[in-house]
Amino acid sequence: MASLFEYAPAPESRAVVDIAPSYGLFIDGEFREASDGRVFKTVSPSTEEVLSEVAQATEADVDAAVKAARKAFETWSALPGSERAKYLFRIARIIQERSRELAVLETLDNGKPIKETRDADLPLVAAHFFYYAGWADKLEHAGFGPNPRPLGVAGQVIPWNFPLLMLAWKIAPALAAGNTVVLKPAETTPLSALFFADICRQAGLPKGVVNILTGDGSTGAALVAHEGIAKVAFTGSTAVGKAIARTVAGTDKKLTLELGGKGANIVFDDAPIDQAVEGIVHGIFFNQGQVCCAGSRLLVQESIQDELLDALKRRMSTLRVGDPLDKNTDVGAINSAEQLARITELADSGTAEGAERWAPACELPSSGYWFAPTLFTNVTQAHRIAREEIFGPVLSVLTFRTPAEAVAKANNSQYGLSAGIWTEKGSRMLAVASKLRAGVVWANTFNKFDPTSPFGGYKESGFGREGGRHGLEAYLDV
Ligand code: NAD
Ligand code: MG
Repeated sequence: MASLFEYAPAPESRAVVDIAPSYGLFIDGEFREASDGRVFKTVSPSTEEVLSEVAQATEADVDAAVKAARKAFETWSALPGSERAKYLFRIARIIQERSRELAVLETLDNGKPIKETRDADLPLVAAHFFYYAGWADKLEHAGFGPNPRPLGVAGQVIPWNFPLLMLAWKIAPALAAGNTVVLKPAETTPLSALFFADICRQAGLPKGVVNILTGDGSTGAALVAHEGIAKVAFTGSTAVGKAIARTVAGTDKKLTLELGGKGANIVFDDAPIDQAVEGIVHGIFFNQGQVCCAGSRLLVQESIQDELLDALKRRMSTLRVGDPLDKNTDVGAINSAEQLARITELADSGTAEGAERWAPACELPSSGYWFAPTLFTNVTQAHRIAREEIFGPVLSVLTFRTPAEAVAKANNSQYGLSAGIWTEKGSRMLAVASKLRAGVVWANTFNKFDPTSPFGGYKESGFGREGGRHGLEAYLDV
């Protein structure tokens, strides 16, 4: 079905942000080249245009950054919490002031729609800094004893799906608690972290408190293995999370891991169908489905399957896929050629294993990395598309008859990060939620984030909590 309205192009101006042709590493308050001078390129996934060249940090650079952070720790950790709070509030305000630049930059480097960077990522990033700024002078009231101490230097490695938001989740609580950090952004999305380095300078943050090292997995591996760090925080794939857990085992480094997911979105026969459809669409097509807590498995009660799927297909047919800088775009580009290849391979396995594939007619741009919003029905629990994290705009639909069957199927996963429940009955919501092995359970909504709520997983989705009061614990010696 063609969309009901034709939309005129409404592009956000890319001229609002200046992108330098090259960037160095941010160590001890200064930008510098990598010790061996190596660089790599970052592209815009919607056009494959090269945006900039960034430094590839070596082991020697990791060492220099950790040394700078250790030195800065002496004075930063000794500051009264109220002084640290001033810096964090200042950073939060600068993020708000520069949010239009940051939203455009993030959209260019990541490929996600400007509607999302503008209305979700950036407001949440600022909110996270405001929230933890408020904790900095209240740590003795956080429930971790009368005099909670920071750990030292935190080594933080983040992914490319929410580059700046994951940076905020890592840096804000670390600094509030009195730690200093060395952070490595993902190799396909380094630019917003480098912009943040500039914000740290603008805020007058003391040198060495925040260090940003761009580079690939080898830089991340060198960082987590460095003897000078006291804490490792990682968000990314389960495979790399396991490798990091092995590196850290036997040391006294503290570790939090936020890994993948295969979230079940459960729709009961009494659910408000139109609202559920919106939640399902938001749950799997937000950020092109490249979301660890995506609702990638739809569990629908058998009696309403036909009605729900008809409504879902109609809604999917109205999704606008294309230029991420266009303010009307709902679904942008896939972050990289590698990620597109992973999504394509897993989706093809769905067809090969006998599931039924459907996607609305939509024209994809000829350059860049694109994948149409896709739905699989006739999916069984044994199919790879029901078990493995696709991390793309692909929804696998399974059915159930009773609440007990819904719970059993939802929990039949190596992961345990998120789940959704759609029903009009409050008692059923609570009964089902209490049986789900998922760190976050949403009821009659999905993908709602708030800096005050803890977030994290069970099983292979990782351990530790980020956000809220709970998120402080990972950065305190408790
Ligand atoms: P990845 O885990 O390889 O990359 C995440 C971060 O870890 C990047 O900064 C990367 O440079 C770094 N890294 C890679 N190897 C490392 C190592 N040995 N030691 C330390 N750091 C290392 O993820 P990917 O390859 O970009 O994506 C693969 C899959 O991971 C995706 O398809 C998706 O399923 C999952 N993923 C999950 C999340 C999440 O939010 N939980 C984010 C991104 C990807
Ligand atoms: Mg990029």
